[in-house]
Amino acid sequence: MLALLLAACASPPRALSDAAADSAIVFYVDTLRADRVGWAGYRLDGRSPTPRLDALAAEGTVFAQARSAAPWTHVATASLFTGLEPAVHGAGFSGPVRDESRQKGRVHVLDPAFTTLAEAAEAAGLRTAMFARNRYLGLGLEQGFEVWVDPPSGSAATQADRAIDWLDTLDEDDRFLLVVHFMDVHTPNHSRAGDRARFAASRELSGEDLDFARRWHRRYGKAHPERVPGFADYRARREALYAASLHAVDAAADRVIAALPEWRRPRTLVVFTADHGEEFWDHAALEARAYADPRRQVGMGHGHTLFDELLRVPLLAWQPGVVEAARVEAPVSLLDLAPTVLGWLGIPDAAARQGVDLGPALRGAATPPDRPLFFDGICFGHAREAVLDGGWKYVRSWREPDLLFDLAADPAEQADLSAEEPDELARLAAILDARLAEDAALGERLRGGAAPDAPALTAGERAELEALGYLEPGSSR
Ligand SMILES: [Zn+2]
Repeated sequence: MLALLLAACASPPRALSDAAADSAIVFYVDTLRADRVGWAGYRLDGRSPTPRLDALAAEGTVFAQARSAAPWTHVATASLFTGLEPAVHGAGFSGPVRDESRQKGRVHVLDPAFTTLAEAAEAAGLRTAMFARNRYLGLGLEQGFEVWVDPPSGSAATQADRAIDWLDTLDEDDRFLLVVHFMDVHTPNHSRAGDRARFAASRELSGEDLDFARRWHRRYGKAHPERVPGFADYRARREALYAASLHAVDAAADRVIAALPEWRRPRTLVVFTADHGEEFWDHAALEARAYADPRRQVGMGHGHTLFDELLRVPLLAWQPGVVEAARVEAPVSLLDLAPTVLGWLGIPDAAARQGVDLGPALRGAATPPDRPLFFDGICFGHAREAVLDGGWKYVRSWREPDLLFDLAADPAEQADLSAEEPDELARLAAILDARLAEDAALGERLRGGAAPDAPALTAGERAELEALGYLEPGSSR
C-alpha cells in the first residue's frame, strides 16, 4: 500500500479530465500589430521576425482577423481579462476629450465588481501569475493573480527569466494560468545588438528620433509625411527596430515554452496575442486633415484612432496534438479570450461575458459566429466609437467626420464611403447606438451602480484645449 502511494506521488499528476488542457500560458505583447508577425507573411530583408512562433503557428490555430476592443493598454487589457466591451467595464479615460498626458492619475481603474479571467482561474484552484511591464497594467487588472509583478524595466529575456523562475516553483499537482507581458516593441523599443544587425537597424532610437514627428509637424504644418525630408529613412529605421525588438520576444516566448517539463507540454494551452497595434503612418494624411491629437502626432503611435493597424492583433493558439492546425478568417475579438481559456481548461464560469468560447474553432469543429464587433476607449483626442459588421466598419466621433469602410474591398481603410453609402452608414449607426445603450445598462448592473463621472477638466486644461481647437469656448463639452 505504501509502495503504491509512493509510486503515485512520484508519477505525473492525474490524467486530464474532459478538459482539453489543465493549464495555460498567455504571451501578451504590448503594441504588436497583426501584420508584422512572420506567420502573417511579414518579412523584412527576407527575414521573419518570429521564426520560432511561425513554427507554432504552422501547428496551431491562427485567427487571422482578431481585433482588440480598444487601441491602448489599460482599456484593451480590461476587455481581454473580463470579456466585456469598454462601455461595460468603463476602465480607462472617459469624457468627450481625452489626453493621457494630462489625465494620467485620473484613469478609471477596473472596478473590482467585474470577474476577471484570473479570478475565475484562481477560484478553480489554479496557481495564477502575471509578469507585466507597463504602468497601465495593474490599476485593477491584477485581480485574481496570486503573483503580480510589474517592474519599471525588463527586456523580453528578463520577463522570460521571471516567468521560468515562477514555473520552477510549481508542484507537479499545480495547474496554472501564466500571463507574460512584453514591452520591447513599444516605443522607444528595446532591442539587442544582434537583432538590430539582423534587420539592418543601425542603432536604438534617440530622444531626438522620438521627437521627429513633432518637429516635422511644427516645421511643415499638415504636410503629408512622405513629403518631409528624411521621412523615408526614419520610417524604415522605425520598422527595422520594431522587427528587431519582436525577434527578442520570439526567442523569449520560445524559451518559456521550452522550460515547461515535457509532461506538461501536451496539457498546456499556449496563446500568443497583443493588446493593440501601432501606426506606421497608415493614415497620416487623413489624421493630418481631420483628426486632432493633443500630442500633435500624426500617423504614428497608438491610443488615438480606431483604424485596423491599432485594433488588429495577432492571435495564435497552440497545443500540440490538441489544438487543430488551422487558419480562421472569421473576425474574432480579444473579448473571446477569457471564455475560450476558461472553457478549454474546463473551468466553470458564471460571470457575464460578451466574448464567445472559441473552443470549437480550436478543435476544428466550427467557425466562430458572425456578430458585430465594437471598439471604443480612445486615450488621446476626441471620444470615438466604431462597429464592424458584415465586412463594413463605421467609425464616428462627436467632433470629427464619420468614416465608413468596406473592408473586403479596402482592408487598409483608405476609401471613406460615408457619403456614397448612407444606408449602410445608418444601419451600422443604429447597431452602434443600440449596443452602447445595452452596454451602459449591463455595466451598471454588473457594477451595482452607475459608472463614475468623467474627471472634470481643470481651468488650465480647458483653456489649453480651447486654444487647440478641441473645445468651443464656453461649451459644456
Ligand atoms: Zn499597450
